[in-house]
Amino acid sequence: KRNIAVMTSGGDAPGMNACVRAVVRAAIYRGCKAFAVMEGYEGLVRGGPEYIKEMNWLDVRGYLSEGGTNIGTARCMDFKQRQGRLKGCKHLIDAGIDALIVCGGDGSLTGADLFRKEWPSLIQELKDTGVISNEKYEKHKHLNICGTVGSIDNDMATTDATIGAYSSLDRICQAIDYIDATANSHSRAFVVEVMGRHCGWLALMAGIATSADYILIPEKPSSSKGWQDQMCQIVSQHRSKGKRKTIVIVAEGAITNELEPISSDAVKDVLVDRLGLDTRVTTLGHVQRGGTAVSYDRILATVQGVEAVKAVLDSTPDTPSPLIGIEENKIVRKSLVEAVEITKSVATAIENKDFDKAMSLRDSEFTE
Ligand code: ATP
Repeated sequence: KRNIAVMTSGGDAPGMNACVRAVVRAAIYRGCKAFAVMEGYEGLVRGGPEYIKEMNWLDVRGYLSEGGTNIGTARCMDFKQRQGRLKGCKHLIDAGIDALIVCGGDGSLTGADLFRKEWPSLIQELKDTGVISNEKYEKHKHLNICGTVGSIDNDMATTDATIGAYSSLDRICQAIDYIDATANSHSRAFVVEVMGRHCGWLALMAGIATSADYILIPEKPSSSKGWQDQMCQIVSQHRSKGKRKTIVIVAEGAITNELEPISSDAVKDVLVDRLGLDTRVTTLGHVQRGGTAVSYDRILATVQGVEAVKAVLDSTPDTPSPLIGIEENKIVRKSLVEAVEITKSVATAIENKDFDKAMSLRDSEFTE
């Protein structure tokens, strides 16, 4: 029977707790021991019982709906260095862990993929330097790593939805509904800045769900003059039909086709200067991450957590590390390496100004 650890890493996302709960309970149900690595990769690097804790069935009571992550998360610079990962390797072995399920965003899963790739050389080094015994070396020669995608950004390739994205989208839509009322009353324009890093999914979906007048996303940029002209033309047209409110949604990663960032204040200035609209900027900020998980995220995280444990139990030393995704409403096992590579290639396509490629590498909703 296996000793399976679960950790959350990167930006917190509603539903991460549900995933931890599912992994812990599915592991115990299948006769394994469950552990939690506290504070993301920081907990791996620090090690010891304070950071790698055995979890019992009741330890995760109440986790299902709670937002954030109760086992903590962190951005850990040390884990980006081999030395940090070497410590992580030793601490997992010390705790007797033989499988690690990581719930995090693209950065966290890139780290997980690297850790998996490096594991044979890390454990060899620990053996050669006498840090671990031959017996421990033999027992821990293979570490199973499995990824589940926890991120509000919905920016990971090969899965239709990431855990947390729909909760965040819901929160954004609620906030825009509130703004709508005041915008309508004063006949104002609002520029609403939403999260998503280099991905426009939250902005695009919030725009559709709230019928925003204009949306700026990183994957479909135009020239500096291009977006300004188009936005002014569309907003003027809507206003000429008697619309009293204007909502423009700006993804935090919005750029021009020359890769210049477009700030919400710059958008506001255009609405004020060219259209004379009384305009306010609302940056939704961390409200987008908070609160309870919507039902979709609770379900997604639960079924994916259960599947992650199954994947660990099915794996052999030769099985490539899986990423648990959802595709056309089915829970699927994908290749972690491939998911990380495709996700990286979207960023590279944007850096190379190949926006058509970036759009086509995103999920289908972007391509229309
Ligand atoms: P989100 O999408 O919510 O921002 P994320 O997982 O992408 O989440 P990151 O800050 O990019 O968040 O990554 C989280 C942690 O994963 C980092 O602090 C670092 O410890 C680890 N990590 C990220 N990239 C790498 C890498 N290339 N090599 C090793 N570790 C990494």
